[in-house]
Amino acid sequence: MKKKIRIGLDFDGVVAYNPMRIFRAWVAFLKHRILGIRKLRFWYPKYNWQKFMWVIIHESSIFPAAGSELLAYLAENNLIEAHLVTARYSFLDDALRKWLKKYKIEHVFKTISLNTNDEQPHLFKKKIINKFRLDYFIEDNYDIVNYLSPKNPSKIYWIYNIFDRWYDYPEKYPYLEKALRAICQKEKIKIKAGYAR
Ligand SMILES: [Mg+2]
Repeated sequence: MKKKIRIGLDFDGVVAYNPMRIFRAWVAFLKHRILGIRKLRFWYPKYNWQKFMWVIIHESSIFPAAGSELLAYLAENNLIEAHLVTARYSFLDDALRKWLKKYKIEHVFKTISLNTNDEQPHLFKKKIINKFRLDYFIEDNYDIVNYLSPKNPSKIYWIYNIFDRWYDYPEKYPYLEKALRAICQKEKIKIKAGYAR
């Protein structure tokens, strides 16, 4: 039997559609282009009021992304193995669990990796990709994509948004469904018409 394809998925901006991604794209642009910061380092909220603001921002990740139905179909029919990898800081764990339960997609994932030690997101993701020997990883953060892609044997698929779409990258897709379909095509996984649950 053919080995089941292991797909890792980032949460914010990949499994969940997050309107704040647009805002984050501007922050990244500001950091690189205006302030000239090249080193990849993510801000960690230090004070309680900052953490509170951070929770509010992440609570805006309220919609399952276009493609979450396809993801559920592929996992439920054992066509792929889905692994959720989120680098969200630990104080956001509860909100994530609640969200997964609310939209009934918790069972879709074979493993759920939470960044409980508040490691830097790119380092945490690299570690988990290696740990589960993921064949693919779908990520929306362009900096993380660029960090992971040369150093990792996994194939990194990028979900872009309207502000960073002009960046050049071989595997770039506008949203989850397109990325999943591209992987299925590559791996010759057939998607039944009208697959929706
Ligand atoms: Mg993300």
